[in-house]
Amino acid sequence: MQTSGWTPPLAVYVPEEEQQDIDLEWMKVALDQAEEALAAKEVPVGCVFVKNGKAIAKARNRTNEWRNATLHAELVSLDEILKTHPLPLQDVTLYVTVEPCVMCASALRQVGIGKVFYGAGNERFGGCGSVLDVNDTPSIQSSLSYPAFGGYYRPEAIMLLRRFYLIQNSNAPKPKNKTTRVLKTDILPIKSRTASPIATPDGSRTPLETELS
Ligand SMILES: [Zn+2]
Repeated sequence: MQTSGWTPPLAVYVPEEEQQDIDLEWMKVALDQAEEALAAKEVPVGCVFVKNGKAIAKARNRTNEWRNATLHAELVSLDEILKTHPLPLQDVTLYVTVEPCVMCASALRQVGIGKVFYGAGNERFGGCGSVLDVNDTPSIQSSLSYPAFGGYYRPEAIMLLRRFYLIQNSNAPKPKNKTTRVLKTDILPIKSRTASPIATPDGSRTPLETELS
């Protein structure tokens, strides 16, 4: 039963025409990392952390390689960054191909990340608005909130995931029915929900819904 008065969080989606070239350039770097993950049979998510116009860390998922479920791209990068950069990381921006999960969204908040840009929303585990709004919920008072903006090369991020799951299904001992072996190429538009928009620095708040697999 839902708590009375509870409203689902909303991911922030920036329309393509409002996206800045510089942010798209960095997202391409993150997508390259995701491509590398796909080639290595990892869930294809990649990221890059940027400070003063320079990449200070980039990574991809390594959960299978190191048999460690916490080794999401963001945390792999943070491990490196924390060795050399003092906290908080207020002047650091993260570009990641998929919305950070609840675990990573929380870690990013604890290190005081400045801003996050992501590609596809993560309707299963997203911690920046799709499932929970760990990034800016005021109920977390121990660390600063951060803005997170989605929609940057969203179709490309989704297609990488679909290619991964297609390969996974094809390799399964008992592949699911044939339709799961066909690569879907249609990208559904982002649906809007009727909800009170919350003001953000760079865009309106609308839910970012994707079909990742
Ligand atoms: Zn994560």
